Amino acid sequence: QQVTTGKRICIVGAGPAGFYAAQYLLKQLSDCTVDIVEKLPVPFGLVRFGVAPDHPEVKNVINTFTKTAENPRLRFFGNVSLGQDISLQELRQRYHAVLLTYGADQDRELQLQNEQEQHVISARKFVAWYNGLPGAEQLQPDLSGRDVTIVGQGNVAVDVARVLLSPIDKLKITDTTEYALEALARSQVQRVHLVGRRGPLQAAFTIKELREMLKLPNVTTNWRSSDFTGIAEQLEQLQRPRRRLTELMLKSLSEQSTRSSTAAAGRQFLPVFLRAPKAISAKEMEFAVTQLREGVAVATDATECLPADLILRSIGYKSSCADAGINFDPQRGHVRHEQGRVLKDGEEKSVEPGLYVAGWLASGPTGVILTTMNGAFAVAKTICDDITAKAFDTASTKPGFEVGSQRIVSWDGWLRIDQQECEAGKSKGKPREKIVDIEHMLTIAGV
Ligand code: FAD
Repeated sequence: QQVTTGKRICIVGAGPAGFYAAQYLLKQLSDCTVDIVEKLPVPFGLVRFGVAPDHPEVKNVINTFTKTAENPRLRFFGNVSLGQDISLQELRQRYHAVLLTYGADQDRELQLQNEQEQHVISARKFVAWYNGLPGAEQLQPDLSGRDVTIVGQGNVAVDVARVLLSPIDKLKITDTTEYALEALARSQVQRVHLVGRRGPLQAAFTIKELREMLKLPNVTTNWRSSDFTGIAEQLEQLQRPRRRLTELMLKSLSEQSTRSSTAAAGRQFLPVFLRAPKAISAKEMEFAVTQLREGVAVATDATECLPADLILRSIGYKSSCADAGINFDPQRGHVRHEQGRVLKDGEEKSVEPGLYVAGWLASGPTGVILTTMNGAFAVAKTICDDITAKAFDTASTKPGFEVGSQRIVSWDGWLRIDQQECEAGKSKGKPREKIVDIEHMLTIAGV
């Protein structure tokens, strides 16, 4: 049922949370207008800069977002950064409600000595590099060594392992940026270790991602049989998704001994369980052997070193505080809120009227696009409920965004960038060749 209002709502961040919330609001509030303010000249957040290039089907959500953007009551303001080009206070003065959905663009650290060395990089930066995030082309990861050790076993870690181990011809037909393809074609990486603190029953990757790894041509997966002691016996007690994942690992392990020796000549994917990061040196990484106590990994005195010409830290993303006016929890890396309503600083119950948060900025960096969608719909519904309840100023006239001297990319400007990227990709047999230079993007957008 639609509610008629003349409300102006601003959404900060054009990722999945922002677009799904906009979709809901435009549908439910028949005469509200929604402005999306986005730091980059281009939309879609991690769908463009996170999701792996060989997962084009995941990126189909862009079609839904594009439909939402075509609604005449939605305006896109690209190349506008909250905290730099506009303050939260100004946005709150200009809109009846502001919804923050600017995601998580920092990474968690291991807090180990030598972590800032050149051969230690975050998976976040590596993902941004192959996905063409502006500025990330300067990363130039050194792929001249044989061994890469990835710390962490989530799906991002598996994405990174797959990109490193995939035959280059498989990546050439994706939208992996050209400079990354050139570097990956020269790569000498032969073995990728995927290391987790806990055991196979706690592995954070999902079955789809593991299946893809197991099917990669010219790549052998080698498990450590000692990691699986007593695991088969626990299968019956597991929930179905966990049981199926564990069964797949056990099946792959059992097939290991019968694999031909020629297979071992190719690249190798080497999952390692029950190891906690301990120290970093030039060519290897030291791990403490762990034991599980009630599901928690406890370090023992025993250690193991793994070869590591390159170390990729994949232990999670973290949000940042874009504007001093945001009630941000630096420890947990998200905005403090109650069901999407941003809490007043220092208060546990009292909320900032008309200020909301959704997506990874609210939940922390967990969950897939579907999870983000459900969360964004729920917060958008809360906004509708609060409008009905007159929980914030809904009576006064608000001016909305005012274009000053900034160079702002409109939706039409993005469509021009999109068209150029798709055309540039066509000649190479790729869906698109992403433009990575902001100035170039702005020129194409005509600003
Ligand atoms: P984001 O997607 O990060 O969007 C935030 C937006 O805010 C960005 O566009 C950003 O540029 C903008 N922004 C940042 N700062 C500012 C500022 N100061 N002012 C204005 N705008 C700003 N999910 C799947 O379902 N399938 C997958 O295969 C998959 N693969 C993934 C791979 C990786 C490497 C990662 C990290 C995640 C993956 N996910 C996947 C999860 C999915 O990407 C997230 O669930 C989703 O993107 C979170 O949406 P969001 O809108 O909260 O944040």
